[in-house]
Amino acid sequence: MGATVATGWALADMDSLSSRGLKRFLEPLDSPQGPLVRVGGETLVNFSSNDYLGLAASPSVRAAAIAALESHGVGSGASRLVVGDTTVHQRLEARLAAFERAEAALLFNSGYAANVGTLQALVGPEDAVFSDALNHASLIDGCRLSRARTVVYPHADVEALDRALASTPARRRLVVTDTVFSMDGDHAPLRELVGVCRAHGAALLVDEAHATGVLGSRGAGLCEELGLSDAVDVRMGTLSKAFGVLGAYICASRPVVELVLNRARPLVFSTALPAALCAAAGAAVDIVEHDDALRARLWRNIRRFSQGLRSLGFAAEPRSAIFPVIVGEPGLAVSAARALRSKGLLVKAIRPPTVPEGTSRLRFCLSAAHTEGHVDLALEGLRSLRL
Ligand SMILES: *Cc1c(COP(=O)(O)O)cnc(C)c1O
Repeated sequence: MGATVATGWALADMDSLSSRGLKRFLEPLDSPQGPLVRVGGETLVNFSSNDYLGLAASPSVRAAAIAALESHGVGSGASRLVVGDTTVHQRLEARLAAFERAEAALLFNSGYAANVGTLQALVGPEDAVFSDALNHASLIDGCRLSRARTVVYPHADVEALDRALASTPARRRLVVTDTVFSMDGDHAPLRELVGVCRAHGAALLVDEAHATGVLGSRGAGLCEELGLSDAVDVRMGTLSKAFGVLGAYICASRPVVELVLNRARPLVFSTALPAALCAAAGAAVDIVEHDDALRARLWRNIRRFSQGLRSLGFAAEPRSAIFPVIVGEPGLAVSAARALRSKGLLVKAIRPPTVPEGTSRLRFCLSAAHTEGHVDLALEGLRSLRL
């Protein structure tokens, strides 16, 4: 046997996770993403995917990927700043800037990389970041990597943010927030946040991961829905959720994009996305922008599920495609997920540290690809749990 030191650490830590009901495990699908997926020989109705518009397996998105695979190969060979950039990447950035009505857009390999890289490029040790308590882990890690002073304000509490800004001088101040919160599905008070940032001369960065493709008249997110796209310094969107592909982008002024391109470590030190995925994302943007029927179908499902949840006694506003059903302890969430599974429903239990202690939950994600029958099956499953 070789080295065993790390094995000892792993066994001890995994024991501790197991005993608290927090052990995680993989479950491989044997099908594409979609409303129905094959898992372990069973076909289940999928309520845990962020493929909100059902584009991950869309024929035109696949066709665009295949054409670019043929013309550009698979791997991209280097970081974009070396020789990994292609005309396909450039075209996608121009397409995204037009879709978002922004001066410029910049691609990243993932939403995680976009948040970490952009924060670290914009602020440093002399600066302060103000971060909503329920922000996504990638924003939290971006704060850490930036080494800026980080002030966490209570969730969606604009008055607390106002006080924090008033009492925290720094060279530069940046407020960061999800627009649709990933585990609760609620919205940031964006209009008020814009006002507070203006009053204090702070910049605002928003993460539209769960809003892009879902909110706004053309699917350009909560900023579009509220007419605030021009009032926000940096908007981040993912290509991995409603667009059904992989990667992410920020939209901002040209100088901001240029600075981030020069400084963001996940861009400088990591190989570029394959051109095939950029081509696929471009096809997905076309669908999101022009196929209103798809978004209408998603919203019909959202309203149906929300009404059903309310008739079961849950508080459930139709604000996004995400509906948490809070159960409490991690073990309870896991057994509820198992019970739903036996009824043909795939809904993952979400536990700490993804959500705060005591708020383990079933997190339902709806898709335009779900039928009314699928939505009703989920409601029937929940009714049978008697939570
Ligand atoms: C999923 C998610 C990300 C990360 O995006 P990936 O493309 O999956 O890396 C960032 N922010 C939020 C709010 C998310 O939900």
